[in-house]
Amino acid sequence: MILNASAERLAAVHAGIATAARNARRDPASVELIAVSKTWDADAIRPLIAAGQRSFGENRVAEAQGKWPALIAATPDIRLHLIGQLQSNKAAEAVAMFDVIHSVDRPSLVSALGKAMASAGRHPDCYIQVNIGAEPQKGGCAIADIGPLLASARAAGLPIIGLMAVPPADIEAAPFFALLAQLARAHGLPGLSMGMSGDYETAVMLGATMVRVGSALFGAR
Ligand SMILES: *Cc1c(COP(=O)(O)O)cnc(C)c1O
Repeated sequence: MILNASAERLAAVHAGIATAARNARRDPASVELIAVSKTWDADAIRPLIAAGQRSFGENRVAEAQGKWPALIAATPDIRLHLIGQLQSNKAAEAVAMFDVIHSVDRPSLVSALGKAMASAGRHPDCYIQVNIGAEPQKGGCAIADIGPLLASARAAGLPIIGLMAVPPADIEAAPFFALLAQLARAHGLPGLSMGMSGDYETAVMLGATMVRVGSALFGAR
């Protein structure tokens, strides 16, 4: 069988996930691959859908609203993940559009999402984003704030599944992945959204349940 470039890249990433999972004595099926399609248009996305990919990640609500409704109309079992910072005034639009929200990181957003979910009657799975490297320019709550934010998110009716983080660039990610895994365990959370194109295999070995892979599937942005 001749595979197109998208299908080949998808197969390569699945193989990388499977090898990393087996090395860590994990079931490869316990890791969900999110194809990060930010900046790519429908023509770039369709071949991946045709190759069987169903979970996609976007970092901007408006961009997702522009390109996904038509793609989802054609393939209704697509699951959309919001992986970028979310402004509170976009909470209702995010709740309407996304199946999973990875970037819950502050009390004002928790209350906006709680209200939006209650009025929409729709409750996307949520992850608390942690600023795991304590970088001032990055989103995510401080490690010390995970407990209080988790409590207020639960009180507001958000289904919190796990923790998400983007480790600092250009240094070894493994210690940050290990720390995020330890924090999730400490808070009794099963989900771990961590790992991108450059480090998803490491993330899987350290317990990632979702990896967010863009350029390894679509090419350089
Ligand atoms: C863009 C992005 C990714 C994907 O990055 P790649 O290096 O292209 O795989 C993953 N997570 C987040 C939060 C992103 O913004």
